[in-house]
Amino acid sequence: QLIAELMRMNIFASINQDIDIKVAIQIGEKHGFTIEQKKKEKPQPKPVAEKKVHKPEPAKEKDRPEDLVTRPPIVTFMGHVDHGKTSLLDRVRKTKVVAGESGGITQHIGAYTVDMDDHKITFLDTPGHAAFTAMRARGANLTDIAVLVVAAEDGVMPQTIEAINHAKAAGVTIIIAMNKMDLPAANPDRLKQQLNEHGVMVEDWGGSIGCVPVSAETGMGIDDLLERITLEAEMLELKANNRKRATGYVIEAQMEPGMGPTATLLVRDGTLKVGDSVLCGAQYGRIKALIDCQGKKVRTAGPSYAVKCLGLTGVPGAGDEFSVCTNDKEAKQLSAEMLAEIKEQELTQAVPRNKLSLDDLFGAAGTGDIKELPVIIKCDVQGSIEAIQHSLESIKSDKVKLNILSISVGNITNSDVMLASASSAIILGFHVAKENGVTAEAKREGVEIRLYSIIYELLEEVEAAMCGLLEPEL
Ligand code: GDP
Repeated sequence: QLIAELMRMNIFASINQDIDIKVAIQIGEKHGFTIEQKKKEKPQPKPVAEKKVHKPEPAKEKDRPEDLVTRPPIVTFMGHVDHGKTSLLDRVRKTKVVAGESGGITQHIGAYTVDMDDHKITFLDTPGHAAFTAMRARGANLTDIAVLVVAAEDGVMPQTIEAINHAKAAGVTIIIAMNKMDLPAANPDRLKQQLNEHGVMVEDWGGSIGCVPVSAETGMGIDDLLERITLEAEMLELKANNRKRATGYVIEAQMEPGMGPTATLLVRDGTLKVGDSVLCGAQYGRIKALIDCQGKKVRTAGPSYAVKCLGLTGVPGAGDEFSVCTNDKEAKQLSAEMLAEIKEQELTQAVPRNKLSLDDLFGAAGTGDIKELPVIIKCDVQGSIEAIQHSLESIKSDKVKLNILSISVGNITNSDVMLASASSAIILGFHVAKENGVTAEAKREGVEIRLYSIIYELLEEVEAAMCGLLEPEL
């Protein structure tokens, strides 16, 4: 009957065809129905924290004190390019990681664990603060101790300072490795002085930061460095429960010929076992095999150990969280939910909401939700640094505490954006520009950048935001 009526209106529609809403209303009225059009909801931008999609419930087993065991520290090497990060990592690996007795060869799986008598240390294989902060921006706080590698003949360089800032912002323990001590031009005293000037108080200068002379070339001092790491780790009292189901992060993942999707998982807590059903980012699978950094097949991996895992159905992303589920069904279902959520987000193309903006602060200062304003400041000349820092620190607000994560000279770089993203900070630029690609990266990461050319304006806006007076930017 409806089709016939449509035909009379010159619309030749089949039974499952969409028709125009106006036509539908007209015909509906004729038959005594009111047809309402469902309003299309505007896609609500989702907060960045949700960008990583629904997090699986971690194994809800409460830790009993007697189940907590000491776990090895996880260490990242940072520092200026060419100061010897990779060489040191290799040197430690060569001297301390012995290939498995079953003819195994040391494997680059993204991390390796060395044995120091009864102590163990896990090193992340990707050196540099960019990788470190990119992982942190994704929520993967893996590092306990940052070894800041500085070439003793070169001294403190721009990326050394960046690395210091990134490590400090993450609140990790810092140890200085004064590298290239074999070179005649090595000048450790000058280096310590420079570090001091940049707020890194080394032991010899009355501070508490360890400073170990090493040479990746000759192997000198490597044992001292490892001992120092162990000492710092003891002070950190790193504990984990190795009796519960494992949780942790993906540090590398790829499709490998003959093996299918593989992922290196760094266990944060619990013990990972062959046969576990695991949810890995949005992928899942039952673990078929685990391979350690010596190329050996192992049955289990405890806290702070990294293992390559086989048996996933797809390739997860680096920095994704993993967790062991009760069974395959649960893992599969959670994976399906996450994939659906990701798809939906892609469709709505949700723009990440700013992690923190001055406007947020304005709104929240009154409610007491935000207690701290972390900022990264870039300026044109050294002289501005002191002026801005001094003025900002003298702003008094009982609502919000200003936390200057880093203040340095130079244009705004992607590295600044990642640091801001990882620390939920905003970037304030004074007389500087954004480097290529920074605007897009900041948008992706939901980081607010504000540029100023008059100090007074910068100070006024920050003060207004901190005291809850800033008019939101429309
Ligand atoms: P990265 O960029 O910090 O990873 O630095 P690399 O490990 O690639 O080292 C840069 C260069 O410095 C290479 O040519 C190394 O051979 C050299 N190098 C690294 N450590 C030492 C050292 O202790 N002594 C000397 N003489 N050269 C070193």
